[in-house]
Amino acid sequence: MCIFCKIINNEIPSNVILENEDFMAFHDINPKAPVHVLAIPKIHVESFNEVSPQTMKNMTKFMQDVAKEVGIDKSGYRVITNVGDNGGQEVKHLHFHIVGGAKLAWSHLSDADPMGKF
Ligand code: AMP
Repeated sequence: MCIFCKIINNEIPSNVILENEDFMAFHDINPKAPVHVLAIPKIHVESFNEVSPQTMKNMTKFMQDVAKEVGIDKSGYRVITNVGDNGGQEVKHLHFHIVGGAKLAWSHLSDADPMGKF
């Protein structure tokens, strides 16, 4: 069972922000911004590649509610999902990083881009 499925099953503790029958949001254990929340579906979906439009429809509303719950909906935030090796996905259970609470940097993203050209 993957680490996020264990969090869903309460086998691993987490700092839950919002939860319903289908989704869960909890604080990232290694925050990269003042607010760094992970939102996940309770069904095991490996990544954004596999998620159904129906799940995404409901997940969108859930993430909007999470942003409100942690008080960053008005100030602004970023939603990120890493997909696969090049995307830097470490946990193979679909998750959206919701980050905010400060003005976020937007620097070059590619290791193959030392000059910051793309
Ligand atoms: P990614 O690299 O997109 O797969 O992101 C995985 C994220 O999960 C990282 O930001 C980790 O800090 C976070 N993470 C890993 N284990 C836990 C955990 N037990 N509780 C909360 N966040 C976690």
